[in-house]
Amino acid sequence: MSTDDSSGRPTSADDSSGRSTSADDRPAGGPARDGEEPLVSVDGLEKYFWEKDSILDRLLGEEPVAVRAVDGVSLDVYEGETLGLVGESGCGKSTAGETLLRLQEPTGGRVEFEGRNVYEMDGTELTEFRREAQVVFQDPFSSLDPRMTVGQIVRQPFEIHDVGTPDERRERVRELLAHVGLSADQIDRYPHEFSGGQRQRIGIARALALEPEFIVLDEPTSALDVSVQAQVLNLLDDLQDEFDLTFLLISHDLSVIRHVCDRVAVMYLGEIVEVGPVEEIFDEPRHPYTRALLESVPRASVTERDRERETLSGDVPSPRNPPSGCRFRTRCPQVIPPEDLDVEQEQYRAIMNVRERIESRTIALEAVGEGGEYADEDGELAVDDVGAFVDDLKAQLLDTTLAPRHDERVEAALTELAAENWADAADRLRSAYESPCERVNPDLGEADHPVACHLYRDDADPGGRDEGFDFAG
Ligand code: SF4
Repeated sequence: MSTDDSSGRPTSADDSSGRSTSADDRPAGGPARDGEEPLVSVDGLEKYFWEKDSILDRLLGEEPVAVRAVDGVSLDVYEGETLGLVGESGCGKSTAGETLLRLQEPTGGRVEFEGRNVYEMDGTELTEFRREAQVVFQDPFSSLDPRMTVGQIVRQPFEIHDVGTPDERRERVRELLAHVGLSADQIDRYPHEFSGGQRQRIGIARALALEPEFIVLDEPTSALDVSVQAQVLNLLDDLQDEFDLTFLLISHDLSVIRHVCDRVAVMYLGEIVEVGPVEEIFDEPRHPYTRALLESVPRASVTERDRERETLSGDVPSPRNPPSGCRFRTRCPQVIPPEDLDVEQEQYRAIMNVRERIESRTIALEAVGEGGEYADEDGELAVDDVGAFVDDLKAQLLDTTLAPRHDERVEAALTELAAENWADAADRLRSAYESPCERVNPDLGEADHPVACHLYRDDADPGGRDEGFDFAG
């Protein structure tokens, strides 16, 4: 972990002068560091939750539905580094953190800690792992038992693991409180007597009690005021040096990630889409999702505010029914058109957005136009109104003017909607506009800075389209 200055205060992600002063200390590579074994190695980790899985559901003939919170995550964490895991809320990053610590059992995949399979551990080996791998949770208000004193909370790990005599435990608790910037005089107070930042310090002291090697920091500062966030991040930075700690920092806050992480893994809808050194991720983001994520950060300077943005369209799809192929393709500004189609990128994205709306049947046909004027007494659309209906619907769905041949195709699909022929409307657009991105899910690969996107075949051509990729299949 490396904070950007002596205060440890994270600054805005758009501050071009805000690069970490310790960038030279960072590991050079993405997924692998020459000759070094990772402390934690995650391979194809899956965590699904199941819906419609009760006995009653089965009696009613319902099929269980998988919610694919984590779906094939692979990453390595090296000793002494801080790996950031970043993504929007609900992308599965916290579930990944809890599952790799075995706080939740996995659906599939493998996690190794110092070369040992975490999911095959039991007895003494599992107890030892629980001492060596700890977690600091997001919410310092709910993660501390309000009925226990600070001393009891921090002492609890010693009691669970039967470490030390009562006197030794009390002395160690005092030392830990001092390490996290609290006074030993506060040992008999209760959590409600502390501020948010102080409570998080108590949580950190508890995580440090058993002298772990590895800590998952799950949004450790997101519940805190900005000024307090900087203090807690600075504390974690100091403790990492003092105790030789390795961190997996889970956060949606890009300014925190930028200023405290050595490497970054970007997660979207249960999958890792890009991994790289923090300065490369922020200065030369490759995956369209990473770029859009960075573009979404508010800019402080006036010139930056006026720049053209590559923004995200649409909502995050549900992990119950993720898109086929690349999961980002329903929102990707660079989604790849069919090879033989002559279409501008912006127009293709706009057409694909219309297609998404039709396929998900999320267009309120009864509200087209002013709302209700196209329906007759039976609720049917009058034949004479179809043209005006299609024009109004097109104006509602598209904010760009399409080239004539694409305009005709979209109008033909919307005309199907005039008769509520959803499937036919979707078929018309699918047959003309199916993207290679929806047929093949791109691998992350094993390059130094891997990117799960068909636009990149390998690091030799980081900026160009993958001309040689065979999308068949
Ligand atoms: S594979 Fe296609 S949809 Fe996915 S990120 Fe790359 S260009 Fe976008």
